[in-house]
Amino acid sequence: MSLATLCQRCALCCDGALFAAVPLAPAEVDAVQRRGLVVLGRDDGAVLPQPCAALHARQCTIYADRPGPCRSYRCMLYAALEADEVGLDDALAVVAEARARLDALALAVPGEGPPLVRARVAARAGHLSPETHALMTRASEFLERRFRGHTRR
Ligand code: SF4
Ligand code: SF4
Repeated sequence: MSLATLCQRCALCCDGALFAAVPLAPAEVDAVQRRGLVVLGRDDGAVLPQPCAALHARQCTIYADRPGPCRSYRCMLYAALEADEVGLDDALAVVAEARARLDALALAVPGEGPPLVRARVAARAGHLSPETHALMTRASEFLERRFRGHTRR
């Protein structure tokens, strides 16, 4: 129950904060497309882009039919909660801090799409102030340290 609560309040692995896409096995492509979702690429290179179009109000609307990588993915925070290394309240505080960092970055880099992506694009174009660059770096490092680690979808 705690694990479900954590993910229902988080969704950072679905909204583009942690990943740009979910890789799909060839056999999963039809099922995803039947749910009205756009698939990019084909065969072994097919992906479901993120922010995921199946995500609404931080809930997966195709949960029972979600692709294999979505079923198997466990971020570091999830694993820590599952192993009782952290309690639910502390885990939710980590999610809140991640969202606060991303929200601050979103304010500094207005536009559409995940704030880290916007910031990286602006940085590559040389349009990021040193302060915003620091916000971007700290947000990215926080996600890496508390969520992503070495695990990829
Ligand atoms: S990033 Fe982790 S805690 Fe958040 S929804 Fe994904 S698996 Fe759950
Ligand atoms: S299909 Fe569901 S679990 Fe997978 S990325 Fe989309 S919203 Fe998240």
